[in-house]
Amino acid sequence: MERKRVFSGIQPTGIIHLGNYVGAIKNWVTLTKEYDCIFCVVDYHAITVQQDPEAFQQGILRAANTLIACGTTPECCTLFVQSHVREHTELAWIFNCLTPIGDLERMTQFKDKSQQHRDNINAGLLTYPLLQAADILLYRAQIVPVGEDQVQHIELTRRTARRFNSRFGETFPEPDWLLSQTPRIMGTDGKTKMSKSLGNEIGILEPPEAIWEKLRTATTDENRIRRTDPGNPDICNLYTMHKAFSPAETIAVVNVQCRSAEIGCIDCKKMLHENIMRELAPIQARAAEGERNPGYVRGVLRQGAEKCRALAAPLMQDVRAKMGLPGE
Ligand code: SF4
Repeated sequence: MERKRVFSGIQPTGIIHLGNYVGAIKNWVTLTKEYDCIFCVVDYHAITVQQDPEAFQQGILRAANTLIACGTTPECCTLFVQSHVREHTELAWIFNCLTPIGDLERMTQFKDKSQQHRDNINAGLLTYPLLQAADILLYRAQIVPVGEDQVQHIELTRRTARRFNSRFGETFPEPDWLLSQTPRIMGTDGKTKMSKSLGNEIGILEPPEAIWEKLRTATTDENRIRRTDPGNPDICNLYTMHKAFSPAETIAVVNVQCRSAEIGCIDCKKMLHENIMRELAPIQARAAEGERNPGYVRGVLRQGAEKCRALAAPLMQDVRAKMGLPGE
């Protein structure tokens, strides 16, 4: 039986942190066991904010290398860079011409991002959900793993597929979103989403000592002031991290001993650090190997792009023919 196709992407801005790893990448690797997975470093999406060209190029390669080190290897999925397959922007333009502007102005992320980047509210910020729709529909993906903040964009993708199909004939499946089951890890401040721009991130390739320093000073249950105060793990971001990295028995022990004040926060964090490093150490070793061998990473991306072009070209031929755009 043919496996369903999954598509997902990650922006090559900043470093890949624990929030990305737990919320998306770890899940991607699991999905490769069941689905035909296409993962993309979405560099076109990243240029809605200004980038330094040299650093940007390095960031793209670093992101790809980190993804491969995490397990999105060519043996189990397809990994490529968005700008290597030109059909993404071509299909996005077509969708731009089919979509009422009001549909885009309603997007919560557009409102948020135009607040964040008041000095650079470019048209790309408004239309990037249609580039996202093109990314997904270009490969007729049926499943898109997303966080809750992206559901609105997948709804728009579904509407875009419907709009095209009803006007030009059945072409695109309407993809379903797949919400991550893992709890959301906040930044080291315990309050806001983990993000390099907020300076509250823990990079997955940071040395163990740097990760420990960030955990050591990370905010816990703020009501737990003295070591003897009972804590509440349900409101502690470090406990959420335990749920992502520690074995079941450790999670259960922390849950009980935090409430009874049998365990202090520093000991709790030491256990967490050990468990995080147990999982990250092999990833860090593979990433270091990839950095020594950038030719390998480039080769994986080249192979991924070739495969994606072979899927995208006939789809775009079909789209152009249905729309009356003349072939060569
Ligand atoms: Fe959080 Fe652990 Fe401290 Fe409890 S003991 S408040 S779970 S860091």
